[in-house]
Amino acid sequence: MSFLKHTLAGSSTDALQNYLGSRATALAAGVIEVLPKQSSGQSIVLSSGIHGNETAPMELLDGLVDEIVKGKLEPRNPLLLIIGNPAAAREQQRFVEHNLNRLFSASASQTGSSKEHQRAIELQGLVERFYAKTSGSLSSAGSLSANKPLRLHYDLHTAIRRSKIEKFAVYPFLHQRSWSQSQLAFLEQCGIDAVLLSNQPAGTFSYFTSRHLQAHSFTVELGRVKPFGQNDLSKYLKLVESLRGLIEGHQRFESKPESLQVFKVVEEVIKRSDGLKLHIPDDAHNFSPYPAGTLLASDETYQYITQIDNERFVFPIQNVPIGQRAMLIVAPTKLGERAQT
Ligand SMILES: [Zn+2]
Repeated sequence: MSFLKHTLAGSSTDALQNYLGSRATALAAGVIEVLPKQSSGQSIVLSSGIHGNETAPMELLDGLVDEIVKGKLEPRNPLLLIIGNPAAAREQQRFVEHNLNRLFSASASQTGSSKEHQRAIELQGLVERFYAKTSGSLSSAGSLSANKPLRLHYDLHTAIRRSKIEKFAVYPFLHQRSWSQSQLAFLEQCGIDAVLLSNQPAGTFSYFTSRHLQAHSFTVELGRVKPFGQNDLSKYLKLVESLRGLIEGHQRFESKPESLQVFKVVEEVIKRSDGLKLHIPDDAHNFSPYPAGTLLASDETYQYITQIDNERFVFPIQNVPIGQRAMLIVAPTKLGERAQT
């Protein structure tokens, strides 16, 4: 058995704890915590399987847990490891009732009784307690003092379609905070080729931990969805090596990114009616560039035509509920003056 197998089998926390032994603590289904005696200055949250069919990240985390359990990897930073949606993972479905990565929210308006609604609330609470325990509490103004361990959250995903850029990260909207060059350099070290800068709040896990828990948070896309057992994990060597270094306390966040491509969101296409049509071939890759003047989406009272050359689409899904995002349009940009180390 393994962390992933126990989670998919629906094992009790006791059974999972039996497997983990003394090196890690089972907190809930699909959630374990490692609290080493020392901290090297980072409190790390790694999440996977927020979408249940995105198997590669779950297998990657499972490998790290296996190494920790066997004593081959010795954490020198506190660590929270998450398999996000076990019920959906069991079915290898993106979700059971609702897209979990739209349900994270600190507001009281977070309603709904589905498994995914309950799981979002559970995960928020677990991450909040983990950070409070390992990197101190936030000030009354909601900020984290400078001498506390950095709060890090990498939420690992894979995409539905092929992509011109296989590995990329989504930087949640930061409001008044600055982009972190050293975080982007770390992502580059992990083998990530591009970052997409969000321009508004979202119901994603990474936006929640960034906005409400002051973490350096990213949604990280790692290639294409495949069934369990069919992932080529050798594609992720740089990522796994970098995560090992981070867990073992060797990672210094001091560099700047060198060749990372940067994109900004120029349009969020919302499904307004069942008349929405995305003018994109089924086999077109994410980040395919289009010249100015190309019709990319039309709805009953809306259309999106590219404004400048080299605009690209990402994450197109025609079949979303009305009111939800059906596609993002992005364009190349530079980090600019809001970046800091
Ligand atoms: Zn996903």
